[in-house]
Amino acid sequence: MTDPVPSQRPPSVDKLARSLGDIGLPHPMLVEAARAAITAGNADSARQIAEDMARRLLRPVINGTGTLLHTNLGRAPLAWEQPESYSNLELDLTTGERGSRMATAPALLARACGAEAAIVVNNCAAAVLLVLAGLAEGRDVVVSRSELVEIGGGFRVPEVMDRSGARLIEVGTTNRTRRADFAKAVDAPSNDVGVVLQVHQSNYKIVGFTEAPRTAELADLGPTLVADIGSGLLDSRCPWLDGGPPGWLADEPAARQTLEAGADLVTFSGDKLLGGPQAGIIAGDADLVAACARHPLARALRPGSLVLGALQATALAYLRNDGQAIPFWRMASAPVLGLRSRATALGVGDVVDVMSTPGGGTLPGVEIASAGVALNGDRRTALRQRERPLIGRVIDGRTVIDMRTVHPDDDTEVAEALAAL
Ligand SMILES: *Cc1c(COP(=O)(O)O)cnc(C)c1O
Repeated sequence: MTDPVPSQRPPSVDKLARSLGDIGLPHPMLVEAARAAITAGNADSARQIAEDMARRLLRPVINGTGTLLHTNLGRAPLAWEQPESYSNLELDLTTGERGSRMATAPALLARACGAEAAIVVNNCAAAVLLVLAGLAEGRDVVVSRSELVEIGGGFRVPEVMDRSGARLIEVGTTNRTRRADFAKAVDAPSNDVGVVLQVHQSNYKIVGFTEAPRTAELADLGPTLVADIGSGLLDSRCPWLDGGPPGWLADEPAARQTLEAGADLVTFSGDKLLGGPQAGIIAGDADLVAACARHPLARALRPGSLVLGALQATALAYLRNDGQAIPFWRMASAPVLGLRSRATALGVGDVVDVMSTPGGGTLPGVEIASAGVALNGDRRTALRQRERPLIGRVIDGRTVIDMRTVHPDDDTEVAEALAAL
């Protein structure tokens, strides 16, 4: 009797990793893939594991979902590439002295929304945190019970308040809160109110028997009035759009009008209706902005030159009233007729009427008429597997690509992707 065939020795991790070199990942990642495959008893799976790793890296995708601010796709679309270069981030080129990184994009945004001053942090959650820490640490903050919201991704107003060191005083009820409710809390001798906070109900609606004071009604209560407007609409008149504000914008609060109504500060996101990079903006009264900037948290929350550079480009486009230079507004304002002819020109699938949505946790329930193409069945997986993934959605068993969120330069690639199915 002969011995059974000796079980094949597992290939060396290093050798296997080297055989994957063409995938283009750094060697340690290939080693990790090789090791995972060998541990699983299937050395042949190493290539698939490594390819999956490569696919998980950040890459450009084509958004065919019709959701303009798709949080999974990075909200507002932006150009990424930056030349290898230093910048004058904190150098005053006139005097040669140390400058401030808040003198560029933040100052331009302040001007664009009629504020005295502004600073920029990493996102709007950070902006709210910094405002509360900077202006009400150890003091009371009054908020309506209808605005103690969760914005998503764990941003809950009561928890942010807690972390800021401010104490929350809730007033009113879930559906109805009046100015008198705020005034009572402000005037109570046992309270030490530093800030009255209004939080925009960005991603939900309370309908029916409701009441909430307007910003103007809270302006003279005494304490600093902060309005977290969230979405970053700079001006409700939309002077950057030829046709003025689109109907779907309805009652969205805007930075300029909220400040004019008497808010001392507004906070908003950079990557929602502002259409810029992920950032949080605190704009309004110069002394209050300075107080926030002096808080030690400001240093921990400040953005770098990549974000400030992208935000500066966005701010300059607003100051030029050039909405077409801001991808979000260009896409949001594109007429349906043009979208329909682009869909027809793809020459694949059926041209269909669809509805786009602003997304990004803004304007709940708002839909914008659009056009796209539909193919039978759920083809999303194959479209996602492409070198440059095309992300679609399924409506009534059909895969739909909405042309509103597709850059016209990508139409040919979309046509190819759909034809290849
Ligand atoms: C979206 C939103 C936030 C959080 O903004 P991020 O930039 O995503 O951190 C905070 N407040 C309101 C009212 C919002 O709409």
